[in-house]
Amino acid sequence: STPVATAAAITRAGRRGVLVKGGIHLEQLTRVRVVAFDKTGTLTRGRPQVTDLVPADGVTATELLGLAAAVERWSEHPLARAVVERAEAEGVPIPAAQAFEALVGAGARARLDGAVVRVGSAALLESEGLQGPPRLSAAVHELQAEGKTVVLVTQDSDVIGAVAFRDEPRSEAREAVDRLHALGLRVVMLTGDQAATALALGRALGVDEVHAGLRPEEKVAALRDLEARLGPVAMAGDGVNDAPAVAAATVGIAMGLAGSDAAVEAADVALMGDDPRGVVTALEVARRARRISL
Ligand code: ADP
Ligand code: MG
Repeated sequence: STPVATAAAITRAGRRGVLVKGGIHLEQLTRVRVVAFDKTGTLTRGRPQVTDLVPADGVTATELLGLAAAVERWSEHPLARAVVERAEAEGVPIPAAQAFEALVGAGARARLDGAVVRVGSAALLESEGLQGPPRLSAAVHELQAEGKTVVLVTQDSDVIGAVAFRDEPRSEAREAVDRLHALGLRVVMLTGDQAATALALGRALGVDEVHAGLRPEEKVAALRDLEARLGPVAMAGDGVNDAPAVAAATVGIAMGLAGSDAAVEAADVALMGDDPRGVVTALEVARRARRISL
């Protein structure tokens, strides 16, 4: 488009809370065939709450919550905050842990009374050679099918229970997906969360493809695969975990300027708020600028 049309479009987008970092990105937005969203904090509110405690035989819910909170007290993850909030709300004492370690995209561990306590995904525990007893696995699958995120808690090699969380979908997410479809685009979810949980949400929102259980570098690989199969991709995310994929996309979109600096810095377009319909606005403004300049 002409420099004047481009400048006007960037101004117009800015007034609607969409910061486009240069004319080239408007141009690229008009070529996009696919919009990929991170799940947590983007399609959902990113404020998970604990919904279920599933202690193993011989363990009480209070013990389970106390041990999980002892580890999670030192973690920055949204799931960790939810565990600590629940323990505090129930007045459950949180024992002191040592040697905390975050296992990025997988969970966390710490030492407690000489034992190693881990909190994290089933994939994490499997990678450390541990597995939940069958009774717990059935409960885990049921909770995941309800769209909940489930993490397991272990003490040395014993699985002592599971904790389930619900992260409400954003009310505007369904409309954003519908409007992207109306623009002729394919909508994809890329997430570190488990497949069953992600699929339940993807179905509810009308998302075309769900790729789950991805670590940050696997999100980049999934993006490259989408580009090879379908064409240019816009990737919208908010977390530190999303920054590599946001940087790798044809158009990287950071959601919520209150979100992670890494994602905003990696992005070509930054949304002032955390409303996923801002992605639709960005695409509409870019398409209109192209029409005006033709
Ligand atoms: P997302 O892509 O949804 O932002 P993350 O990459 O942050 O997800 O985490 C992926 C998965 O790793 C979570 O769904 C959870 O199972 C596990 N996980 C990561 N950190 C923690 C933690 N501190 N406590 C419990 N589970 C965790
Ligand atoms: Mg996120």
